[in-house]
Amino acid sequence: LEPSYQFMLRVVTPGGVSTPEQWLEIDKLAQKYGSGSIRLTTRQAFQLHGVLKWNLKQTIRQINDVMLTTLAACGDVNRNVMCTPNPEQSEVHAEVHRWSEQLTKHLAPKTPAYHEIWLDGEKVDTGDKPKAEMGLAGNAVEPMYGPVYLPRKFKIGIAVPPSNDIDVYSQDLGYIAIMEKGKLVGFNVTVGGGMGMTHGDNNTYPQLGKVIGFCTPEQILDVAEKTITIQRDYGNRSVRKYARFKYTIDRHGLDWFVEELHERLGWQLAPSRPFHFESNGDRYGWSKNKNGKWNFAIYVNSGRIIDTDESKLMTGLREIAKIHTGDFRLTANQNLIIGNVAAPKKKKIAELMAQYGITDGSELVALRRSSISCVALPTCGLAMAEAERYLPTLIEKLEPVLTEVGLRDEEINIRMTGCPNGCGRPALGEVSFIGKSPGKYNMYLGAGFSGDRLSKLYRENIGETEILDTLRPILSHYASDREHGEHFGDFVIRSGYVKAVADGTDFHS
Ligand code: SF4
Repeated sequence: LEPSYQFMLRVVTPGGVSTPEQWLEIDKLAQKYGSGSIRLTTRQAFQLHGVLKWNLKQTIRQINDVMLTTLAACGDVNRNVMCTPNPEQSEVHAEVHRWSEQLTKHLAPKTPAYHEIWLDGEKVDTGDKPKAEMGLAGNAVEPMYGPVYLPRKFKIGIAVPPSNDIDVYSQDLGYIAIMEKGKLVGFNVTVGGGMGMTHGDNNTYPQLGKVIGFCTPEQILDVAEKTITIQRDYGNRSVRKYARFKYTIDRHGLDWFVEELHERLGWQLAPSRPFHFESNGDRYGWSKNKNGKWNFAIYVNSGRIIDTDESKLMTGLREIAKIHTGDFRLTANQNLIIGNVAAPKKKKIAELMAQYGITDGSELVALRRSSISCVALPTCGLAMAEAERYLPTLIEKLEPVLTEVGLRDEEINIRMTGCPNGCGRPALGEVSFIGKSPGKYNMYLGAGFSGDRLSKLYRENIGETEILDTLRPILSHYASDREHGEHFGDFVIRSGYVKAVADGTDFHS
């Protein structure tokens, strides 16, 4: 008998936007073939866990039937393109979101194998003939990726200032939308960001992307394609842990990269334009679009859509999806926006939320609403420690001190991952924890509130008691000595707890 293998399926959702029909299908598949819950990821994708091997094909086909796909959600290719999901800037958002879809389409692998294997496409049998003769080999099949694809995964995100909710500096390639007089005029381009590292290897580190110039909307596909080909040609293919694009740039230098990019483009990026980020968090509750429609941003604990004793979140969203005529928007902070609610439906949707205990999280401490944690144990095979199942407990234990010192409503970004691969972007948490072994974490402090500065190691390999004993006095100190409007990450640097990290290459020094 074959073992009962189970898989995780990740669904590409450009910019995190899906229709109610798509939501209902994902929900149905999670109930029928998955673990009974849906995971919203930090890259605005759906994840279904626990899909048994013999149900994989049917699940993928049904995902495909509602115009979604798992193609390139994983692998050494461009992943789900992220995009600020704020529909309240409706005109600009719609335009920017269209570019995230264009990027996804343009950069998707062209191989027919996915359709052949999973969707019962016709098998292309080349027989004894060389594939080139069939017009299929090498560049003919993958004009951009080539025959061996990329050395590592590649991540792209588009931010719409003043929100940096997609953590644009964490992306291999980032675009920052530039609006002038309310119109999208183009994008500043960032390159070389990435969160992952390996414990004990200081040649690996999280890095922030750097702004290298400006391009018009029509130029972003070209910029993305040529950037990816540079990584394809120069990325480290010998040592996988040094293969990410950030190391390629740091090894060769930013000037080299820009020169190489300009040469491949055949034109030059324009000088970058001014922009300003305010935060990398989400705005909760009701907001109104310029087109008169409404949105409700729900706090979702660790991105897990599931029914619990406190909230019938999964059931409630299913009922809402049945009557909703707008969309659902997955945020990069693992939350969910019921977007573009038509005014006549608003009352009914609000009633359904009340009926099923769905809220914006305003009853919780702000630290909880500003938290991100990855899946970790028991689902992720790379996890060294808990994250999703533990972070709420840790925050609960910090709640008394937060209340006592008046920080209950203070947004402080807190992030936890089960290993240093960085899926929850921990190096951009003002307080963060990276798992080392069960119950033990490295603790980092000092990232920028708008995702523009990395954190720094403060304590190594500590358990819960030490975490609480360490953090409580720092929080009290912050409450009493912060300057007006000073964020926690800035405060811990000004107060000397950690030094500011100017560049990822200084992360360990
Ligand atoms: Fe990612 Fe590591 Fe968390 Fe697994 S444990 S989800 S690899 S950060």
